[in-house]
Amino acid sequence: MTSEKKCPQCGQWTKWNKNPEDRCAHCDSVLDPRRVQEKIDVSTREAEDRAHSFFIIRPQDGLPMKAIRRTAFVAHAVYAAIVWLFLVLFASTPG
Ligand SMILES: [Zn+2]
Repeated sequence: MTSEKKCPQCGQWTKWNKNPEDRCAHCDSVLDPRRVQEKIDVSTREAEDRAHSFFIIRPQDGLPMKAIRRTAFVAHAVYAAIVWLFLVLFASTPG
C-alpha cells in the first residue's frame, strides 16, 4: 500500500510504502529515522545477548568447556520442556 509522508528532513511530501527504511524522493533521507534506529538497537542488543550466552561454544573453549556448554544446553532444554509440560497441564485442567 502506498501513501504519502512528509519528509522530516526537507519537509516535502513523498511516496511512502510504510517501510521505515523508505527514502525521500527529494533529498534521499530516511523517512522514519526513529524506527530505523530502533531496528538497529534491537539487532545490536540481540547480537550482544547471543555473544554473552553461556550456551554458545567459543573458538577458545577447550574440550571440557565444550562438553559443559553442550550439557548445560541439553539440561536447559529438558528443564524448559518439563516446565512447559506442567504449565500446559495446569492451564488445561479445570479447578
Ligand atoms: Zn526529503
